Amino acid sequence: MKAAYFKEHGGAEKLVYGEYKDPAPEPTDVVVRVRACALNQVDMLLLDGRFPPPEGLPHVNGCEVAGTVETAGAAVKGLTTGQRVIIFPGFSCGSCEYCLRGERTVCVRYGYLGAHKDGGYAELVKAPAANLLPLPEAVSFEAGAALPLAFLTSWHALVVKARLEPGQTVLVQAAGSGVGSAAIQIARLMGARVITTVGSDDKVELAKALGAERVVNYRTQDFVEETKRWTNKRGVDVVIEHIGGETLEQSTYALTRLGTLVTIGSHDTHWSRLDLRHVYSKNLRIVGTNLGSILELRTILDYVAEGRLRPVIDRAFPLADARAAVQHVLDRRNKGKVLLVS
Ligand SMILES: [Zn+2]
Repeated sequence: MKAAYFKEHGGAEKLVYGEYKDPAPEPTDVVVRVRACALNQVDMLLLDGRFPPPEGLPHVNGCEVAGTVETAGAAVKGLTTGQRVIIFPGFSCGSCEYCLRGERTVCVRYGYLGAHKDGGYAELVKAPAANLLPLPEAVSFEAGAALPLAFLTSWHALVVKARLEPGQTVLVQAAGSGVGSAAIQIARLMGARVITTVGSDDKVELAKALGAERVVNYRTQDFVEETKRWTNKRGVDVVIEHIGGETLEQSTYALTRLGTLVTIGSHDTHWSRLDLRHVYSKNLRIVGTNLGSILELRTILDYVAEGRLRPVIDRAFPLADARAAVQHVLDRRNKGKVLLVS
């Protein structure tokens, strides 16, 4: 098969489009013909070596995949060749303490499609049959591929971890990102009110169209001051944050007493400072999360099929142009998801 893989770490120029070994499925696996694969920040970390692929190089990135069933293993039931599917990107063992507690995303043997195994920057990808969900006809391959990481992570952060309630206020960092554009819509769906940040004025309209009530350009305005002004000095109930560094530190100052900050990523840096006096005196909750459950992903798919949630797609590139697609993301030129299609 053809794939866009890399043999050494670096920038987009390290991606090679060419022949790559076909997936070797187990009897419980399905091989999926990739129709659309979304790009993510984690791809960039895998590529440049900040998060080297656990199983070494060469490696194929791509954790969000929609496609059709190419072949199903002998032990697989209920999936037919040609069926439209999306892949739930988390792999868990099912038998460790955390899996038994129903918390599969903190499985001690947790792995991601496209990180721990070769992913979807390819014509074919394999995954356990248990990780597949049927993709409704009403949802395009492109939209389906834009859901499994960004929407699921934002959903789990707001619904499960922050326990967001109708009428509450939320600060969503980076409206132009996949998780940001998802979080704004999910917060609105739950009846919450949203303030969000953008890095350029051309993203303001998009953020408003998604349902944000107030949009702050963080390059020209102080988002903490603007959040305080928007909430009459009170601060917001919830912040959803994936930047790290000063953005995380400042985000805690935007919270009201008993507020919750959910950290779901570290796009700029893995490190941050916290003023602990602020955390304990205001009884803040700082919680982390990654991904969510396959059941939550199915719920999200239902909302997307009904048109009540809508992934924001920036642009689709042919698989052969993966290098240009990655550069587009590295240059932060995208408003929403960038996809590879074949
Ligand atoms: Zn486990």
